[in-house]
Amino acid sequence: MTEFLTQIDSRRNALIQLTQDLVRIPTLNPPGRHYRDICAFIEARLAPQGWRCELIRAHGAPGDSEAYPRWNLVARLEGARPGQTVHFNSHHDVVEVGHGWTRDPFGCEHDTAEDRIYGRGTCDMKGGLAASIIAAEAFAAAHPEFAGGIEISATADEESGGYGGVAYLAEQGRFAHVDAVLIPEPLHKDRICLGHRGVWWAEIETQGRIAHGSMPFLGDSAIRHMGAVLEEMERTLWPLLSTKHTAMPVIPEGARTSTLNINSIHGGEAERQAGDTGLPAPNVADRCRIVIDRRFLIEEDLAEVKREVTAMLERVRAERPSFRSEVRDLFEVIPSMTEKSAPVVQATAAAIAEVLGVEAAYVVSPGTYDQKHIDRIGKLKNCIAYGPGVLDLAHQPDEWIGVQDMVDSAKVMGGVLGRLLGVDERARLMSGPR
Ligand SMILES: [Zn+2]
Repeated sequence: MTEFLTQIDSRRNALIQLTQDLVRIPTLNPPGRHYRDICAFIEARLAPQGWRCELIRAHGAPGDSEAYPRWNLVARLEGARPGQTVHFNSHHDVVEVGHGWTRDPFGCEHDTAEDRIYGRGTCDMKGGLAASIIAAEAFAAAHPEFAGGIEISATADEESGGYGGVAYLAEQGRFAHVDAVLIPEPLHKDRICLGHRGVWWAEIETQGRIAHGSMPFLGDSAIRHMGAVLEEMERTLWPLLSTKHTAMPVIPEGARTSTLNINSIHGGEAERQAGDTGLPAPNVADRCRIVIDRRFLIEEDLAEVKREVTAMLERVRAERPSFRSEVRDLFEVIPSMTEKSAPVVQATAAAIAEVLGVEAAYVVSPGTYDQKHIDRIGKLKNCIAYGPGVLDLAHQPDEWIGVQDMVDSAKVMGGVLGRLLGVDERARLMSGPR
């Protein structure tokens, strides 16, 4: 381990440079820009060092087009003898810049006083990608005799569901031979993220009958029906959800109960476009729709989650004779949580203790990330998120990553590789010549 730690320290500037290079390729999603460029950049770095690199386009995946092809990179470094495969997966896409920046979002300045690098994607998650690359390079240099293989993937579209990225690779069987996966999302260097809550997005529509707004008694207002739905939600559904607590260590703590957000509401005539100076038409609304975002716990069952909503609509119907509604599923993800006894968790906890001198904290993410595809499509449970950075900074203006956090997490990643790929210096010293 000491040899490896020295290797990482000597690569501090290389880590800064690599992070800057990755962030300066503006892989904005939407629409999905420069995906091939970033894959080719990583290939150009790793291939000359003996990594077998493949650029894989997710043909036909949602979002894939000739204008914005969904490119992914998978790189593999073979060890000196057979053993396990440890795979680092990072998404290479970043979200839009947004307002409020005081730094150049793609200039990627290293503020030496703060020892931070600023830019869109530094924290979520090119800093983690860079740390995993440096960790793997330093590990291979310190321990060329390692067993098994190290893989690094840079994948598309995590920010929009991951269908052109990890989901596609999993469908192609790219995780079939993999033993352990670490996803360097920004969960902080001393935390192991075991998984995430479940998601159900649905559209609820109430239906009425159109009529002239001066004679509303001739129609049936879908908006008033929706008002009754919202009232029933306040009266019974939110109180019910707040009683549901999970044993999952979700952060922040507010997310340890079931939650429901109403993402949008719309009823009646379409909203006026900018520049339209006409007056609205006086109609009774015959349709009203809301989109709900329900996050559920590992203790809950998706069918039960859906039944709570249909039962609530039934209660509204019982009091409103003309009430009609429909529920349409939009998106669903089952909760995922890796056992603490899983080898990748044990190895990471031991490496955190060794490198940082603290006990690892175990967390679960309130929202989902690509672990869902590795779990459900790839059928691999030995998977965690572990990486540098402060989660709250993701998607924010003036996003940054701390250089020391990246260095420390690269050391932990190397410690994980040592434990899983047959390199343990203490064991070797003890069994060596006396
Ligand atoms: Zn991310």
